[in-house]
Amino acid sequence: MAIRLAKTAGFCMGVRRAVNMALKTVHDRGGRIFTCGPLIHNRQALDLLRTKGIERLPDEPPSGGNVPVLIRAHGITPDLRRSLFERGFDVIDATCPHVARAQRIVEREAQKGRWVVIVGDRGHAEVEGLLGYARGRGVVVERPEDVEALPAELGPISVVAQTTQGGDRFERCVEALEARFGEIEVFNTRCNDTNNRQTELFEMADEVEAIVVVGGRGSANTRRLAELAAARGVPTWHVETADELPLDELGKFEEIGVTAGASTPHWIIEQVVERLQAMQRRRKSLALRLGHTLARLLATGQLLLASGSAAMALAAARLMDIPPRLSYCALPFLYLWAMHLLHLYATLPRDASLVSGPMRSFVAHRRWALVAGVGSLVAALAVSAAMGPMPFVLVGFSTFLGAVYSFGKIPRRWLPRVRFRRLHEIPGSKDFCVALAAAMMIAIVPWVEARGLGGFGWNEVFSLALTCAIVFGLMLVRSVAADLRQLESDLLLGRETLPVYAGRERTTKLMASVLGGLFVLALGAELLGAPLVRSRILLPPIALMAFIYWLTYKQKVRSHLLWEFLLDLPFFVPGALSFV
Ligand code: SF4
Repeated sequence: MAIRLAKTAGFCMGVRRAVNMALKTVHDRGGRIFTCGPLIHNRQALDLLRTKGIERLPDEPPSGGNVPVLIRAHGITPDLRRSLFERGFDVIDATCPHVARAQRIVEREAQKGRWVVIVGDRGHAEVEGLLGYARGRGVVVERPEDVEALPAELGPISVVAQTTQGGDRFERCVEALEARFGEIEVFNTRCNDTNNRQTELFEMADEVEAIVVVGGRGSANTRRLAELAAARGVPTWHVETADELPLDELGKFEEIGVTAGASTPHWIIEQVVERLQAMQRRRKSLALRLGHTLARLLATGQLLLASGSAAMALAAARLMDIPPRLSYCALPFLYLWAMHLLHLYATLPRDASLVSGPMRSFVAHRRWALVAGVGSLVAALAVSAAMGPMPFVLVGFSTFLGAVYSFGKIPRRWLPRVRFRRLHEIPGSKDFCVALAAAMMIAIVPWVEARGLGGFGWNEVFSLALTCAIVFGLMLVRSVAADLRQLESDLLLGRETLPVYAGRERTTKLMASVLGGLFVLALGAELLGAPLVRSRILLPPIALMAFIYWLTYKQKVRSHLLWEFLLDLPFFVPGALSFV
């Protein structure tokens, strides 16, 4: 059995923009924010948003007083907009730009004295908003048969579409209008997102045996996807969550396609895909099932990252011209493994339904993660003690700083200037701390153990500085890429990360600068004849990390497990190259 996930599944541009604007407002200002109608049509996401202080504007709203009110992607009527301003609300307009364009067309055509026919769903919020802009000169047509019921004396007619209308229905309505009224002005205001989502669904429907459409039952575009798939004669199920999947019936099919409406959060889609994949695995051989379990354990249990840092330690020893030793690999393995387990233990939500991908197993076994994290930290301290007094002091000091970082509070007298209560809440701080810890365990501690506090020259110091910079930079980009991938859920869960704070674009520019800087440093140092620089070991992981960051940015890898493996690959490459 194969599971095929549509590339277009999940939030569309307009919904993502509205959700981000709402979350950013709550994040920046604190307190509550109201939305005109539900922000998205998804019960689970709305429950979560409510816990963040984002709620639907009640029928009896509080008096304005600068209370923020967000206009959602569907838009509202101009009268309601004016009334919000008059009542003193702080209005934040998240109307989707495509919907805003349709509103402008309707307003302009009505002002010209033309009648505006809106092809869409009567009563839908977007259609109601468009009718408001027509100022009494608008009518709604849901299907071609409705055209006959229009009054004959309408006069000059302009036609627009509700942005989420299917192309076929819109064209048939336009033909019926032309047949009845002759010359009409047609504005195709359908949005490309809808087009693309439906086109992909049609292609998928021709190739799979069954289709699962994920999304809220109140979402018109999700319902339409399910209708269109069913109309193609493909067995189709519309589910809101993974719990609703009819696994017994789906188990009969060899290939299942999954798509989702424009307001379905990605973690709900991933949960559906995971449940289907689990059903698929049950049919596979024992060897394949064991292989998959092992892969999940490596990725979820952070063992892959820990092994990657051990491999990187081999390359670091080569770069710093010190003989590799088992302890140089064991120390970063144990310390970084402990750090990641303990950080995840402290920051992941306790509710597994809010987590997607293999991380759900982590949440389910969080106590074991705590035990393993503490045990690994003790083992790292023991290894450093065996390496000598200086390594032990450095690792002990790092552990102390790590504890201060995890549990330390920001002094109250600073709070008016700094809005974070704890050190680890400072955006991006986790990424910098992880990168610093990696540089310490992979480069500094082995270097100190091998060279002591004397008996080295500038060449050795330069090779240490270069190795630290490469390890720090690669680990920083890896950590930020992981944050970028879960930006949507971090925003919803209120976690402070660099992409949440600075946004996708600025974070990506920053990471591109880091990678560009590493590239110039590694290549430039060798070209300038700096001793001990081996760009053949350094350049491939930098290029690979840049590629994997790009894949993450473009959301090209849908499988969480595969992406986890890719993310840690750049740390194994220099380890392997150091033997060449
Ligand atoms: S479906 Fe299209 S028009 Fe509607 S909110 Fe999304 S991007 Fe905007």
